[in-house]
This record gives sequence, C-alpha cells and structure tokens, in this order.
Amino acid sequence: MSDLRNLIEQLVLQTLQELRPGFPEIRPLVEVSQVKNTSNNYGKRVPLVAANWKMNQLSASARAFVLELQKLDRKNVQTVICAPHILLPVISAVRKEADLLLGAQNFYPETAGAFTGEHSLDMLADAGIQTVIIGHSERRNLFGEQDQLLARKLAHAMAHDFLPIFCIGENLAERKDGSTFRVLHNQLITGLSEIKAPFPDPEKIVLAYEPIWAIGTGVNATAEQAEEVVAFVRERLSEKFSYAYAEKVRVLYGGSVNEKNAASLAAKPNIDGFLVGNASLKVSTFMSIIEQTAACKRRV
Ligand code: PEP
Repeated sequence: MSDLRNLIEQLVLQTLQELRPGFPEIRPLVEVSQVKNTSNNYGKRVPLVAANWKMNQLSASARAFVLELQKLDRKNVQTVICAPHILLPVISAVRKEADLLLGAQNFYPETAGAFTGEHSLDMLADAGIQTVIIGHSERRNLFGEQDQLLARKLAHAMAHDFLPIFCIGENLAERKDGSTFRVLHNQLITGLSEIKAPFPDPEKIVLAYEPIWAIGTGVNATAEQAEEVVAFVRERLSEKFSYAYAEKVRVLYGGSVNEKNAASLAAKPNIDGFLVGNASLKVSTFMSIIEQTAACKRRV
C-alpha cells in the first residue's frame, strides 16, 4: 500500500514539475516532519564512505593503498576512492573488485573539444571510473566554480550514468551569523536545478554536507550539528522530488572525519556515510572508518 502511495506521489510531483519547472512552493504530499522520523530505516540506504585524496599520493603509494584496502571485507559499505586524474589508471589497474568504485575529483561537462586541461566523462569512463565529486568547496573557492556550472556538471554526470557526490557547505562566517540553512538551501536547489523529470534513480545521486570550517581543520561538526543539516537536506530533497525519493538518497557528512569521531557521526540516522580527506590518506585509518561505519549502521 505504501509503495502504491509513493508511486502516486512521485507521479503527481513529477507531473507538476513538468508543468511548472522549479515549483519550490508546492509542498510534498507527506508532511516534511515525517522525513526525520522514518529515516531510521537503514536497510533502505547502503552506507557509503569515499576517500578524497585531493592532490596527494604517487603511483606506488596509491597502488599499495588499493591492494591493502581490498583485503578488507567491505560488503556492507560502498567504498569510493577519489584520486587525482593521473593516478586513476594506476588504481584502476590494481582494482580487483567491481564494488570498489573509483572516482575523479573534477571533469568538464562537455563531450569533447577545446577545453584545455580538462577531462570529459567519456575519458573517465574509458579509464574505468564510475564516480565524480562535484561542488567541493576547494573547487568552488580556489577554482571559482559557480553554482550554475555545478548544476550543469551534476546533470551531466547523472545523464552519463556516473555516481556524483555533490557537496554543499557553509563557511564559518555564515555558520556564526545564522545563515547556514539559507546558504545550504541555495546551494542545493541551484545545484539540482538542471535535473529534470523523469528523475534519475535516487540511488544514483549522493549528497555530502561539508561545512567549510570543518574541512582540513581538525574541527569536525558535532554529530548533532551534522545530523540536523543532513535531515534538513533530506527535507529539501523531499520537496524537490518526493518523500519516497528523498528517503533513498544517500547523504554523507565530510569535514575532519577520523577514526575517533566516525562512530558517533555514523550513529545518526540521517548520516549515510562520509567523504574523508586527510584521514583517507592512510589506509589503516580509512579502513577503520569503513569498519566503524558498517558496525554503526548494522546496529541502528
Ligand atoms: C574533504 O576535503 O572533502 C574533507 C572532508 O577533508 P578533511 O576530511 O580533511 O576535512
């Protein structure tokens, strides 16, 4: 019965979306407050832990990392390694398991052409890559990537059957002056704006809440702060898509996650895993985060 209700709800919302693109004022048929309560069903979402190596590792260390990681039983946690482009073929060559996803940290949303220094998704697919990070604060702030480009990248990745990890996050000034939720709402809604009905499978998009003040600082968001934002993100997804859709989207937390704080964050019902920077450079630490995530999600 609830499946039928979900289906009807999705069809109604998609029809409305087609008739009136960008209809943010139309409310979902399910009360938003229900989203928080029913997210306790972990069986629906497979946890995901992604390494963001940024501009780190060389071919020998990258190869050794992936070989070691594959000794770990990771069947309950989808694992992604996002490596620098030049290392992607290196790690692809030693990857033995299809369920270890490889990701790029950047691409350009065109098929081919005069885009010096860029890589297309076809090139990444050709190198055995399935995942891409989009909207990371370092791309937004150091390389000037704006919301409109990020929206194009997200829609392009989904249309090309890549699993995007779309990042949003507020800076410290925004957190302090109380504009966190406004900033995140804008980043999220603009980021999703190029995704049109019929919507892709909810399992094929991953969001990551990455407060800028927590990235690389050693100061993580508390589990309560992260859960509050991730629940907010799920509510916005419910408005954009549907309640049933939002329930299936994985939402990660990222920002100074390590083997000491992973368990308390993973114990929160809406947090489906992590995007890990510094702590993903050492394989034993990264494996500990994966194991703790699996253990927490099994318990809840
Ligand atoms: C990141 O860059 O995505 C990140 C979360 O970094 P760190 O874990 O080092 O804070």
